[in-house]
Amino acid sequence: MIEVKHLTKKYGNHLALDDLSFTIEKGQIYGFLGPNGAGKSTTMNIMTGYIGADQGDVLIDGHNILEEPEAAKKCIGYLPEIPPLYLDMTVLEYLSFVSELKQIPKNKQTIEVEKVMNLVKLMDVSNRLVRNLSKGYRQRTGLAAAVLGFPDIIILDEPTVGLDPKQIIEIRQLIRTLSKNHTVILSSHILAEVQEICDYVMIISKGHLVASGTPAELKKLSHGKDSIELTIKADPQSIQSVLGSISDIQNVSWKGQTKDSCNIIIETSNNAQKVCEELSLAFAIQRIPVTRLNIKKASLEDIFLELTEHLEEKGDSHHDSNL
Ligand code: ADP
Ligand code: MG
Repeated sequence: MIEVKHLTKKYGNHLALDDLSFTIEKGQIYGFLGPNGAGKSTTMNIMTGYIGADQGDVLIDGHNILEEPEAAKKCIGYLPEIPPLYLDMTVLEYLSFVSELKQIPKNKQTIEVEKVMNLVKLMDVSNRLVRNLSKGYRQRTGLAAAVLGFPDIIILDEPTVGLDPKQIIEIRQLIRTLSKNHTVILSSHILAEVQEICDYVMIISKGHLVASGTPAELKKLSHGKDSIELTIKADPQSIQSVLGSISDIQNVSWKGQTKDSCNIIIETSNNAQKVCEELSLAFAIQRIPVTRLNIKKASLEDIFLELTEHLEEKGDSHHDSNL
């Protein structure tokens, strides 16, 4: 449905996209995940024909976005990072204006505008000036403009940024509803968001695609990284001597000590479940009580940090505390 081939984009000397390629199939929710400055907005701007690439091609349903922009753009609704809203129009005027731009037939414009206003819950503010809308309602207006005419592909650049938790939940529900009949591509720098709503995740860092797959597939990338958390009622020396008898322990972190117990985290080189069993037996033989034993699965967050960190630390991008 969408083919992105070998995109390269420079801003001055800064390489924002470096030979980026991927394919988007019909009917799923795709997520571009990456820290600020990774190149998500640049990719979306190129995919939607807002800006050109220095090299590479974007094909939308076989139409090259630069050579046949009309045909390609007809399939796409786009919510840019900063939606191009006209502040002196009412919501209704703005959406009517957009339906004109999108060349929706005159006799269908009213009904189409009404449909999207109902969908994104804008009816109550239809006669308000855009300038007087809250951030949440402005975002919905931008979203309504993207969805207007119900194009096959809906591209949303950080659709939940700046919204409050209730609004975020509403927008996410809306995205799920849209995905029943549309291909949705969204970007986010928030891992939990992408993990929650996307069927397929592409992790972008420094203009490269560093990993892609379903959330479950990406989790598998981190095999061998599971860890075991324990609280053991004994002194460090006794604990150490028991640990020494067990293979497959890669690393032990001492996380604190109370009067009679120690907290530790063990990283295993394989099968954490098996190591857990061995640990509980070994401590039992020594009559040492284990009061907490817990396997901690490596999270997608660990993978995300691992994949983007080593690339990011050399760069000039900002890190974000949401991760
Ligand atoms: P993201 O959306 O993932 O945060 P962007 O695509 O906005 O990333 O930016 C990628 C990189 O390109 C960043 O380092 C950013 O500073 C730079 N960049 C983006 N737009 C411009 C521009 N118009 N001029 C110069 N540099 C830009
Ligand atoms: Mg961006």
